[in-house]
Amino acid sequence: MSTVLDSLSGIVGERWVRTAGPALDTYASDGLPTINSPPRAVVIPGNRDEVIAVVRTLAAANVPFVARGAGTGLSGGAVGNDASVVIALTRLNRIISVDTVNRRATVEPGVVNARLSDATRPHGLHYAPDPSSQAACTIGGNVAENAGGPHCLKYGVTSNHILELEVVLPDGELITLGSPAGEPWGPDLVGLFVGSEGMFGIATRITVRLLPIPGSIRTLLADFSSVRQAGEAVSAVIASGIMPAALEMMDQSCVQVVEASIYAAGYPTDAAAVLLAEFDGESEAAVDAESAQIAQILQANGARSVRTATTAADRARLWQGRKKAFGALGRISPDLVVQDAVVPRSALPDVLDEIAAIAKRYRIRVSNVFHAGDGNLHPNLSFDGRNADERRRVEEAAGAIMEACIAAGGTITGEHGVGSDKLRYMPLIFDAETLTVMRDTRLAWDPAGLANPGKVVPIHACREWHAGGRARKAVA
Ligand SMILES: Cc1cc2nc3c(=O)[nH]c(=O)nc-3n(C[C@H](O)[C@H](O)[C@H](O)COP(=O)(O)OP(=O)(O)OC[C@H]3O[C@@H](n4cnc5c(N)ncnc54)[C@H](O)[C@@H]3O)c2cc1C
Repeated sequence: MSTVLDSLSGIVGERWVRTAGPALDTYASDGLPTINSPPRAVVIPGNRDEVIAVVRTLAAANVPFVARGAGTGLSGGAVGNDASVVIALTRLNRIISVDTVNRRATVEPGVVNARLSDATRPHGLHYAPDPSSQAACTIGGNVAENAGGPHCLKYGVTSNHILELEVVLPDGELITLGSPAGEPWGPDLVGLFVGSEGMFGIATRITVRLLPIPGSIRTLLADFSSVRQAGEAVSAVIASGIMPAALEMMDQSCVQVVEASIYAAGYPTDAAAVLLAEFDGESEAAVDAESAQIAQILQANGARSVRTATTAADRARLWQGRKKAFGALGRISPDLVVQDAVVPRSALPDVLDEIAAIAKRYRIRVSNVFHAGDGNLHPNLSFDGRNADERRRVEEAAGAIMEACIAAGGTITGEHGVGSDKLRYMPLIFDAETLTVMRDTRLAWDPAGLANPGKVVPIHACREWHAGGRARKAVA
């Protein structure tokens, strides 16, 4: 390994290769505190050519690697081990071009999500996918996770906004997928790469679609005296046929924590749950009419009050509370597991009841803040990682929540990916044949199994798939 590290230093400069314990600790986990594993080394290339040379060097020495953006992932995806090298892409942070006529931008992978819309705002354009972590997460990480966000209800998740990708394959070869014009031909390899969680290589250039900033926006805050009613109101809103730009829910536990923090947004702390609904479009009159109609539906479904934000500052304050809720939860415990699952919207009330029962059973405080319009739940489990018993109860409660979501017809992730954390649940939702196709697809991109090994789909078929879930036959 020392020869490899010398070669890496030769490529990027000694300053950008980290091997010391404290430096490696910085990269030992992502946003999920239950997985902690320092890599053998971290290399921080400064441009695409250095990424290619680094990957080629590692491939020649048969050393596994893990691409890493901002490390805000919540499934342990950007974490390596003592045999692997983390390739951090944060120095590749240039917005290469903004084409206002064709409404697209080409960026390096380390560009922070929110910086892209900051740069295009003067042109009346924005990049629509808006993960709540957008002040920190990178476009490369968003591509790898197929990230969502509050406004993805109307505008679609990352995969709907990626036109072209330049990718360094795990053997160091450089390829281009898709086209800037966005017209697909042949198999949709951009679609395949988006959401591949670092298994297929490293995205080094990303061309994204930009959308006009809507001319008119209304944000409603509705509060409820029961979580069940709020869940039923979500179904009623969607059933009305009016598509909100965003429809988010927070339960009382979350609201109280946010209101006690610097992100206080004026949410009523005695409410069992609040809903944030946003409507946008070009015509003021149409947006007003839609939001008035939805306000009526919310009231008919038990909302105690519905407030409309009237100014941009008001709206920003309501959204700040929602987007910073995970951070605010840091007030109540040293550690937080943010879970991610999807259930059919109609199942929301029952599943939320079940999650409350699981929290009680395992004596873990669970706070819910989530993309309700998509049925994309984020139960947040607060705990103290220094306490082994609490750690065990969190693991078991998280598993029980996943099983409840699957039993309700849902699935194990909506946007945070499988990473390492959800690997164990894969056989619960995919049969052996499907897992085999996933494994073979992965091997087609990465025959040597060097890119982010041990995540998402095991490289080598597991006999336990045979016994697990809906598996029908062994694949080994
Ligand atoms: C407070 C908070 C709120 C969040 N809210 C949301 C939300 O609303 N919606 C949402 O979807 N997610 C959310 N997340 C999760 C996380 O921010 C996203 O998954 C994000 O896309 C990760 O980006 P990153 O740059 O931090 O990637 P990392 O965590 O560094 O990496 C994530 C994965 O991407 C791979 N990867 C990174 N860069 C590349 C690249 N250039 N090429 C190939 N693979 C690469 C890594 O190997 C890893 O598997 C939230 C996280 C936090 C902490």
